Amino acid sequence: MSYKNYPMVSRVVFGRGSFSQLADILAPKRLGINAPFIFLIDDVFEKNVALPSPIPTGYSDKIIFISANEEPKTSQVDALVEDIILTSKELPSGIIGIGGGTVMDMAKAVAIMLTNKGEAKDYQGWDLVKNPAIYHVGIPTISGTGAEVSRTTVLTGPEKKLGINSDFTPFDQVILDPELTKDVPKDQWFYTGMDCFIHCVESLQGTYLNAFSQTYGEKAYDLCCELFLDNTLAPEVMQDKLMMASWHGGMSIAYSQVGVAHAMSYGLGYVLGTKHGIGNCIVFDHLEEFYPEGVKIFKAMKAKHGISLPQGICADLTEEQFDAMINVSLSLVPLWENALGKNWDKIITRSKLRNLYAKM
Ligand code: NAD
Ligand code: ZN
Repeated sequence: MSYKNYPMVSRVVFGRGSFSQLADILAPKRLGINAPFIFLIDDVFEKNVALPSPIPTGYSDKIIFISANEEPKTSQVDALVEDIILTSKELPSGIIGIGGGTVMDMAKAVAIMLTNKGEAKDYQGWDLVKNPAIYHVGIPTISGTGAEVSRTTVLTGPEKKLGINSDFTPFDQVILDPELTKDVPKDQWFYTGMDCFIHCVESLQGTYLNAFSQTYGEKAYDLCCELFLDNTLAPEVMQDKLMMASWHGGMSIAYSQVGVAHAMSYGLGYVLGTKHGIGNCIVFDHLEEFYPEGVKIFKAMKAKHGISLPQGICADLTEEQFDAMINVSLSLVPLWENALGKNWDKIITRSKLRNLYAKM
């Protein structure tokens, strides 16, 4: 047995207000006046929500606002990389992603593609990246995905929705400032928070489970139960705890895998464009058979926060669309194997998946 040697985020700051230290953190990383820092920022911070302190730009640094209405595409990464190369005199000093999973994943992918030839789609998979990425920094503004700690950046390409999983993907620096999450709308807070809860359930119930994953997963699971079921926590405490739950949930799946909800949600995302957080919730709501206890608690959390999920999203699908969804889902072999064991394909057949999707 050969154990994987995982990279982790090498530096992290945690604390309310720590975002204001960004200038000091970046200064020693500047490679020269012609090597800009590129700030990729969720466009919700362009007009609707104010960041607590200004973005510390200098020289030829650039701010690019990114819409999170759709999840990152390989073509979008390629276009950004081309634009950065064409408009900068030298390779950037660093890429800083400020936003949720969408923008953080974009920042990771752009940092990788600036130093690796070809197109982003060529690197979707496991350990295909050859060269170290540009220095990259992740600053989450919504908690739950664990994208701030993970070894992947999930992209939709022309043929598949699949991450660039590599040792060069994790951020070199993360700034965890829970205050940045204070304006997240309630529904979105729930969907992205449930991504964390579902990571924990899938990791803790999976056949890949080991003590490394379990210790992180149990902590994050307990934090989610406290956060989403307890009435007594102050908003600031909830923001702090959810940010750490996201971190631990992400760490938990680093050394294991996600499971049925993620495998099926990727299919929904690929065919219908359903976003990750809400897609996981829509699927998980129907997975009592696989995760009875987790789904029961999920339904209690949903009821407590008055969340109603979309129904019937697969009602009008064509057979071709069902097929495409099932193909994407079944291609995620490690997820199924983690969820159901080595003989997973005897348990989860195409018709079983078709019936499950039809309920959603
Ligand atoms: P998101 O980044 O798509 O953002 C959701 C919404 O919240 C957007 O409308 C955004 O503008 C808004 N928002 C973000 N911060 C806000 C703030 N502080 N105030 C107000 N609004 C704010 O949501 P997400 O759930 O964090 O990310 C989903 C993405 O993460 C998907 O693309 C998914 O594939 C990816 N993901 C990646 C990993 C990984 O390990 N790399 C893991 C899970 C999910
Ligand atoms: Zn997830």
